[in-house]
Amino acid sequence: MSKIRVSIAIAACLLPAVLACSAHAAGVPANRQDPKVQALLEELVVANHILYAQGVVDGFGHISARSPLDPTHFFMSRSLAPSAVTAGDIQEFDAEGNLVGEDKRAPYAERFIHSELFKARPDVMSVVHGHSPSVIPYGISHVPLRPVFHMSGFLGAGTPIFEIRNSAGTEPDTDMLVKSPRLGAGLAQALGKSSVVLMRGHGFTAVAYSVPVAVFRAVYTDTNARIESEALKLGRPQFLSEEEALLAQTSMERLSVRSWDMWKAQAAAAK
Ligand code: MN
Repeated sequence: MSKIRVSIAIAACLLPAVLACSAHAAGVPANRQDPKVQALLEELVVANHILYAQGVVDGFGHISARSPLDPTHFFMSRSLAPSAVTAGDIQEFDAEGNLVGEDKRAPYAERFIHSELFKARPDVMSVVHGHSPSVIPYGISHVPLRPVFHMSGFLGAGTPIFEIRNSAGTEPDTDMLVKSPRLGAGLAQALGKSSVVLMRGHGFTAVAYSVPVAVFRAVYTDTNARIESEALKLGRPQFLSEEEALLAQTSMERLSVRSWDMWKAQAAAAK
């Protein structure tokens, strides 16, 4: 092998180490080099764009994912419209919702929704929060949101309403935002073992065991609300039974990757 070829080979071997070193020097945390974290961040970016394209979030709303390296930590975008999120915008938080590392960019005020739900529900790997207009009526009226079709069987586990006044302490009037650990803990308590919690005068939060299924549940919470509202105009809707809801949930969430792939392509095409 010539001297030149040897030099090129040595340079090629050193290149990944140099890149890792320069990335670290620029303030990129070491765990961003982990393939599992990188894959999750890409999934979160896609999830943000899908939720926007599907109308579940607008300029507001967010999605998080539990860290595959430290289950007490989670990842979520900095305070930004979901349609604009890139992997570089995603921040890491600890169990109390504090930013991890040197990142000084403003986080979402409502990050405590995520920190407290991850703390209360070890089975939850992803949390979606949004303000879909179709869902709001079910948090401010006495009509329960219940599964009306097979795509939303997960609603069969119940859709409790979070009343922020009950968690706000001595001054029950708030700006409605879940921007403290205390309010987040109240939301987690209201959610209980359900997959979706409605938030009076605000929106809803959906949880799941993966990012794609959390997106699936958020999208079909919105769709279910629209169908149920239409059915209520016609008369008394027939809902899925508890058993039907459970069986439908198992069947449809197993196939949810089909929706994910389609929504991902649609969101990419819309860019
Ligand atoms: Mn909100």
